[in-house]
Amino acid sequence: MSLFEDIPVDVGIIYEGERIRGRDMQIELGGPREDYKFELVQSKPMDEIEDGKMTVVGPDLPELPEGTNTPFGMVIVVGGAELEKDLEGVIERRLHEYVNFIEGFMHLNQRYDIQMRLSKKSYQKGFNSFKVFGEVLMRLYKSELPFIEKMQVTFYTDPEKVEELYPGAMEIYEARDARARGMSDDEVDVFYGCSLCQSFAPTHLCVITPQRYANCGAISWFDGRATDKVDPKGPVFKIPKGALIDDVTGEYEGVNQVIREKSLGEIERVQLYTAFGYPHTSCGCFEGCLFYIPEVDGYGVVHRNYKGETVNGLNFVTISDLTAGGKQIDGFHGLSIEYMRSPKFMQADGGWNRVVWIPEEIRDRIKEYMPEDMISKIATEKDVETLDQLKEWLKDRGHPIVDTWKEEPAVEAAPAMPQQQMMYPQQAMPTTFTMPTMELPAGAVPGLPSGMNIRIILKNAKIKAERLIIKVDKE
Ligand code: SF4
Repeated sequence: MSLFEDIPVDVGIIYEGERIRGRDMQIELGGPREDYKFELVQSKPMDEIEDGKMTVVGPDLPELPEGTNTPFGMVIVVGGAELEKDLEGVIERRLHEYVNFIEGFMHLNQRYDIQMRLSKKSYQKGFNSFKVFGEVLMRLYKSELPFIEKMQVTFYTDPEKVEELYPGAMEIYEARDARARGMSDDEVDVFYGCSLCQSFAPTHLCVITPQRYANCGAISWFDGRATDKVDPKGPVFKIPKGALIDDVTGEYEGVNQVIREKSLGEIERVQLYTAFGYPHTSCGCFEGCLFYIPEVDGYGVVHRNYKGETVNGLNFVTISDLTAGGKQIDGFHGLSIEYMRSPKFMQADGGWNRVVWIPEEIRDRIKEYMPEDMISKIATEKDVETLDQLKEWLKDRGHPIVDTWKEEPAVEAAPAMPQQQMMYPQQAMPTTFTMPTMELPAGAVPGLPSGMNIRIILKNAKIKAERLIIKVDKE
């Protein structure tokens, strides 16, 4: 009997990467419209865990109105004789994989940024209670990670309860992140790689070092080490650094070799501390995006929860679309907020002296790690709204970038070009294009069921088009 025979929907790796559009969703848990959402794994002594226990605090799935979103919290408690506290972060991150295994269930992002959608189809098939969800997770976790011997899950949909528990979850994430601070990339022989997001971005691999936290902000070097120990064949694995090629950009022979293998030759080199040349690739789960602002030759950073437009008129979604998908795009890459606390942050590009704009919320979260003299020189959305204003601000505040302007940068360069087109760096067009997922018609590919979402990757294709039409997806 299959592990999931009594579950009303299929569960398996073939569903990873499945997208659920707004019109097809029964419910969205968390997501950008909700201020409070989190997923959290905690380890406890075995005698404090009631194995198999599931609790729903707030309305269960049938009581949540169809097509809406809700605040959402999920706390998973695990125990086992070999289970170390260090594994909490990685067990938590496996939710991204396991939830996406469920037919008609999509999981995006991590920690306090989660966005999950259940499809109407799966709901109608009988996936109509959080208890079914919990049951699938327990079976997946225990079969895939046998060091988990006991597990209980609590789902929170009561908005007041989610809000009440949210600050505690944030404190736990912060305590995990703080562990690797103070360690240097130079003092270790191995980094860790994570390929968990390859179902969404097949050429992407995160390189996790003490001073470059994973893009999603959910896996530290310590987490990588702990996971590799208990699950050496899993998606998080050791990368021997090999010979140092360039100390400033952060390029290593061993890293390049693994990247080449894991991206099937698509990515040749990665430099860890730069946004130009061979920047670290990005899947889509990053906490924030770094973006180049050619008009002032500086960088901005925007995070996922930032709801407005950045100083160049683009919002997070547009910037992240330029960045995601496992591509190397000069001037853009995904990052974790923790990487902004690292002394190696953008080291090859001038570090904080090159950053000109960040949201106030991010500045307040990390300002004790920013050079003190730069805090008042980097603008936020409260200080400037346009590139003209930014330029004036940088001059008024004596931002070091101003000294590097040979001629005053032209804010309105190439006015006839649509802004989105201007944002594409010319020298770094990807040679691999990942098409949007599409539904497979019946019988199109022998052996694959109809109705399944597939993705086609065109490698080294030459595409000729008479016109390019860019439409805004309202979702
Ligand atoms: S963003 Fe990177 S580290 Fe995080 S789950 Fe995806 S591949 Fe792994």
